[in-house]
Amino acid sequence: MSWTAAQTRYDAMQYRRCGRSGLKLPLISLGLWHNFGDDTPHNRKRDIARTAFDLGITHFDLANNYGPRPGAAEQAFGELLRTDFAPYRDEMIISSKAGYEMWPGPYGEWGSRKYLIASCDQSLKRMGLDYVDIFYSHRFDPETPLEETMMALDQIVRSGRALYVGISSYNSKRTREAAAILKELGTPCLIHQPSYSMINRWVEDDGLLDTLDDLGIGSIAFSPLAQGMLTNKYLSSIPEGSRATQGKYLSSIPEGSRATQGKSLREQFLSEENLATIRELNAIAERRGQTLAQMALAWVLRHGRVTTALIGASRPEQVKDCVGAISNLDFTEAELKEIEATTVEADINLWAASAER
Ligand code: NAP
Repeated sequence: MSWTAAQTRYDAMQYRRCGRSGLKLPLISLGLWHNFGDDTPHNRKRDIARTAFDLGITHFDLANNYGPRPGAAEQAFGELLRTDFAPYRDEMIISSKAGYEMWPGPYGEWGSRKYLIASCDQSLKRMGLDYVDIFYSHRFDPETPLEETMMALDQIVRSGRALYVGISSYNSKRTREAAAILKELGTPCLIHQPSYSMINRWVEDDGLLDTLDDLGIGSIAFSPLAQGMLTNKYLSSIPEGSRATQGKYLSSIPEGSRATQGKSLREQFLSEENLATIRELNAIAERRGQTLAQMALAWVLRHGRVTTALIGASRPEQVKDCVGAISNLDFTEAELKEIEATTVEADINLWAASAER
């Protein structure tokens, strides 16, 4: 029997305008990085996606190499689009990206026109889509002229493969350069996707949030839960099956691909210092009547500057918990001060290399 989405799906979720564009995104978006690979049963993927959509999460974020097995997430999502979501395609914002290693040889990564256009075509095929809503340059390429990468994004839109374009993990300076080229080409940059959480503040230090405000570009903060560290999961131990127990495989993955492949929550991120911070943050969340995950998401969304928080739930229950964040998005000045005094930069930004170029 075919699946029918909940009638109530738009009752509670809030939607925020993405920069100065016409597009609105849900406050919580769902990413399919580590939860949609061949190592996750199909039924669980289906339950996660259905739960998200039923709660008003209209935005699903993918990339060419999300897996494991690079391409597996797009393939599995494509299957669900056919079996469950076909009637709802126009209610969905689906994104994909290219930038990290996807296939061997000189044309399978970075930012050439050759790679971006071929990869976009592969993504569309895997998902069985005519177009994606947003297509990203996944990381800045220091060796390809930025004009070439941006012209490829422009071409992807003009040829009907995507409706909007975005960039991910570009620093402020490169963002300004990219946005200027895109503007001249007539395809404005819709959105920037940086990592951002209470314990990973590079976007503040870099001035990226100010740059995005200035340019009218929206933002989608990825790993707002610091890959699960900003939840109640690791308060007393490292549970079996959690992402942290799978990080040890990281060393078998080529360095250039570690940011997008393998389970990349390294056990050493859970240092005593970081765990002490997490426990203090958990106490603040409890006083607010929220779970730590909910407070971490509310915090990323606090000033209205970040358009949407991009989570990566591995279970439907986690999606529900995360969406609960929107019932308390306000912070008192005292709470914000306490969070500032508690948090440390946890040295967990695996994507720093892209922003350093
Ligand atoms: P995250 O939301 O910070 O971490 C997700 C993990 O947190 C889950 O796998 C789960 O861990 C845990 N979790 C989630 N909700 C929870 C809850 N309510 N209670 C307890 N634990 C909870 O995000 P992420 O997965 O690192 O990244 C999210 C998305 O961002 C990705 O799917 C991808 O779309 C995007 N992303 C983009 C880039 C880029 O370069 N542009 C890089 C990374 C990610 P367990 O698995 O241990 O259960």
